[in-house]
Amino acid sequence: MLSVQMEQRVNLKFLFKLEKTFTEAYAMLKEVYGHECLSHTQVFEWFKLSKEGRETTEINPRRSNSNLLQTNPFRLRWKQPVNQYNYCVLGYSEKPIPYETENQKYLINTSKCRIPDIDPFNSEVNKYVCKEEYSNCTNLGLLTYIDKSDGVATLRVNGSLLPLYTLFPVTCCYSKIFRTNYVNNNDNEITFSACQEFKDKTVISYPFIRVTCSSVLGKIYSNTHATVIPNETRILADGERANRFSILLVGIDSISKLNLRRTLPKTYAHLKENYLELRGYNKIGDNTFPNLMAVLTGRNTTQLDASCNAKAKLNNCDIIWDTFRALGYTTAYAEDEANIATFNYERLGFLEPPTDYYYRPYVVASEALGKRPRYGMTFCAGPETSGERVFNVAKDFAVSFKDSPAFGLFWMNSFSHDDINIPSAMDEKVLEFLGDTSFRSAIDDTIVIFFSDHGFRFGDIRYTHTGWLEERLPFIYFHIPDSFKRTFPSQYRNFLINTERLTTPYDIYNTLQDVLQLGNGSYRGKRSLGCPNCYSLFQEIPESRTCKEAAIDQHWCTCTGHNYISPKDRVVRLVAEFVVEHINGLVDSFPEDGACADYALSRVVSAGMSESYLNEKNQTVYYFLVIIETSPSAMFEATVEAYLGLDRNYFQLLGDISRVDRYAANSACVKDAVLKKYCYCDGFLYSIKKFVCPLIRC
Ligand SMILES: [Zn+2]
Repeated sequence: MLSVQMEQRVNLKFLFKLEKTFTEAYAMLKEVYGHECLSHTQVFEWFKLSKEGRETTEINPRRSNSNLLQTNPFRLRWKQPVNQYNYCVLGYSEKPIPYETENQKYLINTSKCRIPDIDPFNSEVNKYVCKEEYSNCTNLGLLTYIDKSDGVATLRVNGSLLPLYTLFPVTCCYSKIFRTNYVNNNDNEITFSACQEFKDKTVISYPFIRVTCSSVLGKIYSNTHATVIPNETRILADGERANRFSILLVGIDSISKLNLRRTLPKTYAHLKENYLELRGYNKIGDNTFPNLMAVLTGRNTTQLDASCNAKAKLNNCDIIWDTFRALGYTTAYAEDEANIATFNYERLGFLEPPTDYYYRPYVVASEALGKRPRYGMTFCAGPETSGERVFNVAKDFAVSFKDSPAFGLFWMNSFSHDDINIPSAMDEKVLEFLGDTSFRSAIDDTIVIFFSDHGFRFGDIRYTHTGWLEERLPFIYFHIPDSFKRTFPSQYRNFLINTERLTTPYDIYNTLQDVLQLGNGSYRGKRSLGCPNCYSLFQEIPESRTCKEAAIDQHWCTCTGHNYISPKDRVVRLVAEFVVEHINGLVDSFPEDGACADYALSRVVSAGMSESYLNEKNQTVYYFLVIIETSPSAMFEATVEAYLGLDRNYFQLLGDISRVDRYAANSACVKDAVLKKYCYCDGFLYSIKKFVCPLIRC
């Protein structure tokens, strides 16, 4: 009598002869043999032997064929990186890295979640890595600056630099930058007061100013400055501060854990030494808005649609800074790159300033000085980098309010959003900020969260396995002050445990609510609506937490992984066609759909397949992760659950569909931010408009 294993081997040969694909054959074996089914890897090896015309039915064919180790795609090992920053050639890897390798290390390794800790310079991504150099926005130095002492802010001219600018006499003046509460425009309206002349220095009593200096030959210098006016800081009554910890959120867009290590190695070393990392922090949505809003409101985008959609000004979003302000904290929000800022990209921004210090007028005025872009982003806004401007206001805010409760969000896009290597130009500057003595001594009672929202979302690196993994794993580090550890030891102990658990942006929201509750006896902390089963980081998160429990769709989940299979597999092709059909249906559901082309499947770029699991109907299913190219050319990534029955297949999308190529140029004909992600401007209406509009000026 045949053993169960041998029987499966014979059946496998039979299935091969019936021209079933590996995926189909494995699914059938799984259905018939259930828990006794051979492992995915073993079936693959036998299937491959059959394909190669070998007739063995030995239980472990690997033992009888040493060459197989080299040809089995699940057994590929890391190649040694040639060296860091060696070259930068674009293209995608033909040989995906397997999900787990021998001697695999893990970021977290719990019973339900195992996230691989992979080499940031592995051979698959090394070819995309370049070192970018920092470049000054002016070679002459900053002619003006603000210093603060004895409760006074003074705007000064740096006389020693004047000879570099001109040998003629110079006059300088400054204007206040006012925000205009707008009606129709996109939160961009600013006005300036009359320019007030001053000689070498003048006392400033307004937070945002523009300075202009001229000689007889005309303007030689202009810049903007932002400062917290010292007399605006509140003096607290005795005991008022007790247990009211400040919060400082400092974020850099689109930086994964791995890209932090690649591009900001000095910063990474500082963080490892001084901060605590959430090693299992997994994003919950595609881009900035869902991930950052999960932190700031605890809601998902469906829940936010009621009051925070693209058609509404965003003052009614119940952002957590409203609560901090209501409970006596001074609040601040700054974000560079005004056009793509979180609340302004395809959204209407705020009617009233949402925080006590709202730096957008300063950012808009700074960008109006003149932009020097790098890879499409405003690296320089006037004579200073956009990034350093945000670091400077964050530091000024932290130092100014070090003795009273404060909440600040400081977010940067300008050196990270559009290119995976540009952050490397800013490593020293990021480190200067985090390591600054005055900043470090200002955060004795402040919880600092230094983090990103997601990894790099589009371009060639996204067609790699590493790109898939790191896009879902943004970096996140916490500075927990000693005073907090002393006051709340059990909360701190839980936090330490949670650094090695699966965590999400919703947990950060709950944590901020806990900070409010711990410092304000009468306040009852709210809990995230987007993830009703989420925790605060000051509560112990269960060891067995799954993505589902943490409100992470399978499409974003990095806990379970997948093995790579042939993109030519027949089932993969069916999955890919299902995805294309779904995208076409999605596009058709928008009123502007007439401008967009219908897609057809062009090719499957890569395909991953999970181990089998039971779905809610108790059926044995798999999920497939596919990256597909369509015609007209667009690249999408989707995760699809598949039931592969003997008589029928059934597919279901597990979360969002990602657009992984750069699409801005091809989707400019539509306005809706969601449709932009899926649209290729080549539809019937688009063609008509393109032809007719030049004639009738529509
Ligand atoms: Zn983002």
